[in-house]
Amino acid sequence: MSNVTIEPGQRFERLTVVKRHGSDDRGASLWLCKCDCGKLVVARGSNMMSGHVRSCGCLQAEHARTAARGKFGSQYDRRNGGKKQFSWQGTRGAK
Ligand SMILES: [Zn+2]
Repeated sequence: MSNVTIEPGQRFERLTVVKRHGSDDRGASLWLCKCDCGKLVVARGSNMMSGHVRSCGCLQAEHARTAARGKFGSQYDRRNGGKKQFSWQGTRGAK
């Protein structure tokens, strides 16, 4: 397993890391984060690094609303989300 470096104050899309929140059953680091919408959420560090967790859930809810064109539509939207994550990480590295 590679070392995940996350620090308080770090942002992952809508989430801002507040503090370490222990570890889960598998020993993965958990972090208490504050979402831009104001909700507090505990997220796994690796999920934030990989882009799987980018909000308290409000982001997915918004995406689901825009992609509400049936079951097939939501599948395509998931793939587009993956591309977005990738370009976002590239932008971040270029700063
Ligand atoms: Zn939120």
